[in-house]
Amino acid sequence: MAQVQAISNDHKLIDGRAHAARMIEDLKLDVRDLDSKGWRPHLISVTVGEVDEVGLYVRNQRLNAEKAGIEFQERNFPASVTEAELLAAIESMNVDPRITGIIMQRPVPNHISVHALQEAVHPLKDVEGMHPSSIGKIVYQNLETGPCTALAAVELLKTTGLELAGLEVVMVGHSEIVGKPIAFLLMAEGATVTVCHHRTRNLAVHSRQADAVFVAAGKPNLITQEMIKPGAVVIDIGINQVDQPEGKSKVVGDVDFASCADVAGWITPVPGGVGPVTVAVLMRNAVIATQRQKTHYEVLLARSTKALQ
Ligand code: NAP
Repeated sequence: MAQVQAISNDHKLIDGRAHAARMIEDLKLDVRDLDSKGWRPHLISVTVGEVDEVGLYVRNQRLNAEKAGIEFQERNFPASVTEAELLAAIESMNVDPRITGIIMQRPVPNHISVHALQEAVHPLKDVEGMHPSSIGKIVYQNLETGPCTALAAVELLKTTGLELAGLEVVMVGHSEIVGKPIAFLLMAEGATVTVCHHRTRNLAVHSRQADAVFVAAGKPNLITQEMIKPGAVVIDIGINQVDQPEGKSKVVGDVDFASCADVAGWITPVPGGVGPVTVAVLMRNAVIATQRQKTHYEVLLARSTKALQ
């Protein structure tokens, strides 16, 4: 049974940037190994239209890919592109053996279904872990790859060294991309998971019981000090742009960091927590995807050679 220390004024900051940097460093060897065998991971980032906030994410992904030695290429389509045209473009990337991973940047214009695009990406090239078969693997306890933010958030919980089996965890938010996969990942680790959402009657009643609270709601200051059990872990996934005096803005999470840090045993900052690890997990997924494609082609080759004999 996990023990969560009851400590106050002694919070431990979970440094996502440092963790991500170590992950990227570790990936370099795998990338070099794949490259030496003619299988350098090669990502394609697909954007639709001109969306400023996507630009920052893509630059960050490119930077981390370059650090790890992964090839990174951008393809931008005009906002007027049709869903059928995009699906055809994804299909051509699926069959191109030089491309080992496809990233569908969000948002996309309303006339395009993001689900249709995610489903169109070949499961072997699904580095974001958002294809239905990738999500399904999590349900079947195959946890090596999966949605990047969910894996990143759970990975940061693991850095605390707490035993996950039996841990009481509250997940605030149940989106397909974050909350639901986190709940599945934690259940697979043996945690007892309570999932809360905007219709939960009394969020604090649940969160105050938890050894670890994950928050992905997109609501600044949703979680405050009195909602956290002393010594608990707080993993803040929210990313919110809030206006500041003098027309400036800053990025904050969903947790009132200053007050929660006083009681939490461990807490992630925003920025510098889950965000950088999400990008590092994307790069790790890219490496694993390339390894799987290499194995897949080797098996096919062996089969066809045997058939010709
Ligand atoms: P989403 O699809 O809008 O889902 C938000 C979830 O929060 C929903 O399940 C919603 O419940 C729940 N919620 C909203 N208000 C609530 C409240 N007052 N009390 C309890 N639950 C509430 O958002 P998302 O895509 O999961 O993203 C959530 C946040 O994470 C955003 O700030 C986003 O920017 C951030 N994010 C960060 C990363 C990263 O890499 N760090 C990646 C993805 C997203 P209902 O469905 O019942 O309304």
